[in-house]
Amino acid sequence: MIVLGSTGSIGVNTLEVARRFNIEIEGLVAGNNYKVLNKQIKEFKPKYVVVKDKKTAEKVHFKNVKYGEEAILEVIEKSKSELVVNALVGDAGLKPTLKAQECGKKIALANKESLVNAGKFIDTSKITPIDSEHFGLWYLLSEKCKVKSEKCRFNKLYITASGGALRDWKIEKIKNATLKDVLKHPNWSMGVKITIDSATMVNKLFELLEAKWLFNTTNVDAFIETKSIIHALVEWKDGSTTAHISKTDMKLPIAFAILNKVEERVLEPVNLLEVKSLEFKEIDKKRYPIWEIKDLLLEKSDLGVVVNTANEYAINLFLKEKISFWDISRLILDAVKKFENIKIKEINDIFEIKKEVRKWCESYSF
Ligand code: NDP
Repeated sequence: MIVLGSTGSIGVNTLEVARRFNIEIEGLVAGNNYKVLNKQIKEFKPKYVVVKDKKTAEKVHFKNVKYGEEAILEVIEKSKSELVVNALVGDAGLKPTLKAQECGKKIALANKESLVNAGKFIDTSKITPIDSEHFGLWYLLSEKCKVKSEKCRFNKLYITASGGALRDWKIEKIKNATLKDVLKHPNWSMGVKITIDSATMVNKLFELLEAKWLFNTTNVDAFIETKSIIHALVEWKDGSTTAHISKTDMKLPIAFAILNKVEERVLEPVNLLEVKSLEFKEIDKKRYPIWEIKDLLLEKSDLGVVVNTANEYAINLFLKEKISFWDISRLILDAVKKFENIKIKEINDIFEIKKEVRKWCESYSF
């Protein structure tokens, strides 16, 4: 298989799973972390290696190392592997997903921005999600019914949120939260962007939209479960609810996404007697202003492009400490108001709208 984003949080876990199950790695794609990449090259001996830019490429110990977006697409096209793991972060993952689809490959998809931006153009029958919530839903649904069957007897799907790093802060204090505060995730260890997205609740908005494309329903909602032990629930028409419970470790969803069958133990089971109690909370719009657009986004899913583009723009400024934490949500909500009536008819429209939204963001006064 090919691993895109091999040096990131999901990428490193993917290679751990590959090591354990002896899976051959044909290609490795990374950004700038040449130190980790060099170790991966030595161990997995890939045929293709691509990094983000020339400067990084010069530090990579691999004869034919390539760099840049075009090179990633080329490797996907040239490779013999049937499976592409897309663990790139943000918009960088979109074109590789589209390319892998065009080449008829299966995609183990962590890059949620692909479905958020372009869900309606992606054949989800070729995708296995690497996300604990969608994996949980898939696991529950695949036991009882074929996920996309009309006869499926689910009433509603639920995914859970941790609430992110600021979930217990006084609301008045949140506007002064620093990057360091936001990165202290209570339950998961993940990349920087998704950790910020968890604190704003943008991550959960994205996951609802992903669920729409993956499970063909808008009957999906989210709430907070503070320990992140329950990842997903299915409420069935007969009145029963089943829940997916597992430890906060991405190796389980990854193993299912890259292997056809998983028969060995991947994680230790959760000991509920040790957990003792669980706490559930509503997602409060005062604490997570972005939750205001949840229903709108599920209804007008073209807006995923707007939310994603404004979010990436704002996060870059927040990382440079140029805007406050609240400004991320403010920019997104105003962008949605501005672009509420956009229509995406073909894939190219996505890239055109992204340009327009970025231009608008540049002229926004915070
Ligand atoms: P990380 O930031 O940890 O990793 C991102 C990876 O992408 C790194 O390998 C990085 O390289 C690489 N990368 C970034 N930009 C480029 C580029 N332009 N060209 C080539 N490579 C690039 O992110 P995560 O692993 O946390 O997340 C990856 C995706 O998975 C995200 O979409 C996230 O939302 C999703 N996800 C993550 C989960 C998690 O538990 N972490 C759970 C569910 C979904 P480098 O580091 O070398 O610069």
